[in-house]
Parts: sequence; structure tokens; C-alpha cells
Amino acid sequence: TGTEQVGRAVDAVARCWIDHADELTKLDSAIGDGDHGTNMKRGAEAVLAERDAIVARPLPSALQDIGHVLVESIGGAAGPLYGSFFLSLGRTVSLHPNRDDWNMGLRDAVSAVARRGNASPGEKTMLDVLVSAESAFSHGLDAAGIEAAASEAAESTIPMLARRGRAAFLSERSIGHMDPGALSSALAVAAICRVWED
Ligand code: ADP
Ligand code: MG
Ligand code: MG
Repeated sequence: TGTEQVGRAVDAVARCWIDHADELTKLDSAIGDGDHGTNMKRGAEAVLAERDAIVARPLPSALQDIGHVLVESIGGAAGPLYGSFFLSLGRTVSLHPNRDDWNMGLRDAVSAVARRGNASPGEKTMLDVLVSAESAFSHGLDAAGIEAAASEAAESTIPMLARRGRAAFLSERSIGHMDPGALSSALAVAAICRVWED
């Protein structure tokens, strides 16, 4: 995992959140407070503002920097959740991780999100996507397979009843809408998978 690849991954993830801000906000307007797109866009722009300094750092520090910037900039529930993902990943991965190292790092990072949100899969959150993507990765699927698993997991939140976050206040009325955080996670997974593929 070279500096150049980290840079391309950072750019791709930031870009996907900026490009899909309207869509994310629309989903959050249906079952939340209508700010997930602006939250993620603010996070993405904050990371891009520090991009060159972040990318120049060793991988573990770069990932932790990303976590700190996201916590400080996203706001809302998603900030600390995405923040704990990258902070945990940065604390666990080695300087030059192989696939097994990434496996362990990602498993810990997804657990960190679950702990932070006190959430489990099936509760209609970003965790549904993160768990599916991590499981696809640990089962040895390639980039296309992981991207597909994440996208299916985001779709799978549509019929779910929300049990965490603001959407849970809607109870049955949360059914029939995709969870906004599930989509922002699936978009990020897809962006990273495409960088990894080439
Ligand atoms: P807020 O709800 O504070 O406005 P956002 O709109 O930015 O924050 O983020 C909402 C997303 O955060 C949800 O769609 C969901 O995926 C995720 N989320 C919220 N609460 C939790 C939680 N307790 N555990 C896991 N994910 C959560
Ligand atoms: Mg919101
Ligand atoms: Mg909010």
C-alpha cells in the first residue's frame, strides 16, 4: 500500500461523498434530520484540505489523522462512528499491511463502530454495510465481490425497521427507506474497491 494508492483512496472516498451529498441528504430527510449529505460533504472537504499532509504520513498515522478530521468535521452521529472506524484501523494496521493484517484491522474497526454506536447488524445503520463488506473481505472476495456485498447490504436496509439513531424514533415509518449511513458506507467501499482494482 504505497503513498500514491493511499492518496487515490482518500480522493476517491472524499469525492464520492461530495458527489452524492444530495442523495444522502434526501435519504436522511425521509428518516432523519436531512443533514447526512452535508455532514459527509463537510467531512470530505476537511480531509481534502489536509490531504497532502495526511498522505505523506506513515499509513497508521494517516488513518488516525483521517479519523480525527472526520470526528471534528462531520458532526452528527456519523462523525464519531466514521471517526472510530479510522482511528481503530490506524491503531491496528502495520506500516505495510498484508491481506491478513487488513483482515484483523478491518474486523477491529467494524467492532469499534458497533461499540461506539451500541449497534448490531440488522438495526438499519451503516454497520449493516460495514459488517457485510468486512465479511466479504475476510472470505477472500475480490474488489468486485466486496463492492457488490456492500451495495446489497445497503439495499437490505430498505425493509428494515430502524433501531438506532434518529430513524429509530420513526419506528415502523422508517421501513421502506434506505438508511443514509448505509449508503455513505457502501459508496466509500465501492470507491476504495475501484482504487484497489487498478
Ligand atoms: P445525525 O443522525 O446525528 O443527523 P447523520 O445524519 O450524519 O447524523 O448520520 C446518520 C447515520 O448514522 C444513520 O443513517 C446511521 O447509518 C448512522 N447511525 C446513527 N446512529 C447510529 C448508531 N447508534 N450506530 C450505528 N450507526 C448509527
Ligand atoms: Mg442526520
Ligand atoms: Mg443531524
